[in-house]
Amino acid sequence: VKQNPGEPEFHQAVKEVLESLRAVIEQNEALYRKEALLERLCNPERQLKFRVPWVDDKGNVQVNTGYRVQFNSAIGPYKGGLRLHPSVNIGIIKFLGFEQIFKNSLTGLPIGGGKGGSDFNPKGKSDREVMAFCQSFMTELCKFIGADTDVPAGDIGTGAREIGYMFGQYKRIRGVYEGVLTGKGLSYGGSLARTEATGYGLLYLTHEMLQCNGFDIAGKTVAVSGSGNVAIYAIQKAQELGAKVVTASDSTGWVYDSEGIDVSLLKEIKEVRRDRLTEYVKERKSAQYHEGKGVWSVKCDIALPCATQNELDLEDAKTLVANSCIAVAEGANMPTTLEATEYLQKNKVLFAPGKAANAGGVATSALEMTQNSERLSWKFEEVDDKLKQIMIHIFHNMDDAAKEYGAEGNYVVGANIAGFKKVAEAMIAQGII
Ligand code: NDP
Repeated sequence: VKQNPGEPEFHQAVKEVLESLRAVIEQNEALYRKEALLERLCNPERQLKFRVPWVDDKGNVQVNTGYRVQFNSAIGPYKGGLRLHPSVNIGIIKFLGFEQIFKNSLTGLPIGGGKGGSDFNPKGKSDREVMAFCQSFMTELCKFIGADTDVPAGDIGTGAREIGYMFGQYKRIRGVYEGVLTGKGLSYGGSLARTEATGYGLLYLTHEMLQCNGFDIAGKTVAVSGSGNVAIYAIQKAQELGAKVVTASDSTGWVYDSEGIDVSLLKEIKEVRRDRLTEYVKERKSAQYHEGKGVWSVKCDIALPCATQNELDLEDAKTLVANSCIAVAEGANMPTTLEATEYLQKNKVLFAPGKAANAGGVATSALEMTQNSERLSWKFEEVDDKLKQIMIHIFHNMDDAAKEYGAEGNYVVGANIAGFKKVAEAMIAQGII
């Protein structure tokens, strides 16, 4: 805390991980102390902060701050998304980068941990303004990334449009056509199923977790928060698996749809028109719109937070438990506060942490990297099938680790231990660097 003041989200993430690693740390204490392993693990290998000047449509110069935290490359090139949101600061990027190390390790694929972004707000900007920002951002970032060094991807506020502009600028300055970004469009090296991957993956893992605990997802009522990339495809896959999803939200409010969310309408409003959820209720009689927060007040069997960090707090957890919710699986990164997580686990709610449950996005990004290296593209079904196998593997990996360390059913402990062990082993093998 002293070395990294004013970074509460980063402190929260480190605390959660280190506390759940207690059993492994105690077993290897002498070695880890000698190697200063935990100190090295919590200190990014490199932290970049840079100016991003660009010209708006009125001809005025705007200045944003860009970040890239290259956290850990023990098991592969840095990999992690770029967040464009006014709330972005170094503490948020560090928390996301730190989480990414373990998430990427859990996928079983050779990718290290990193994260980046900017306090730029793409909302309400023209395409030209977004392009001007992306080109300026990449003009600086391109000096530090590459297909075998650091491969950024999308995150909040960074979708196909932004990745396209950034890829174009990278190629123009560096003069190399390579898989330096993932989440690319299909016409220039993107992977089929990458768009759907995080949401679909969340449901593959949730399905496996429910089955292994004697539940069936079919016929269950599901509450989802968010209405972005993760939320949309989580809703779609949940419905395909026979569940009824009754909510969606954005940063201003939420909808309850008693007939189940109409995904094609939601996609049209959010992906095509880039509009607010208030539009959804205008075209859907069975839905009501509510201002502010409130998704977790709805009675549901399964809760899938898919918007942003700390969106599900202790009060929400109490409501979910009172409503007999059986499972919470995190589509977003750290959407559940530490107190809420503990309360859910104490009350026997199955809890799948984001670093496992939403790893389908980065796993499919790694499959995109493989396709780019091979200069081939795989069929949708092939990628989707690999994604499904990876998510099932992640579930069993964390389930087994939890059992091995005496914490059966505690998937937070299981995911952290399973992710950590591989990274720790690789760091020790590579010497003091
Ligand atoms: P999007 O930008 O596509 O969507 C984000 C959604 O969350 C929007 O509905 C947005 O509302 C809402 N939201 C964002 N910030 C806030 C806030 N401060 N308060 C309330 N609602 C908010 O992002 P993604 O769907 O890609 O990402 C969602 C989460 O999933 C993030 O935590 C991200 O890190 C995580 N994630 C994403 C992956 C991916 O592949 N995309 C992979 C793994 C994790 P509005 O429309 O009003 O902005």
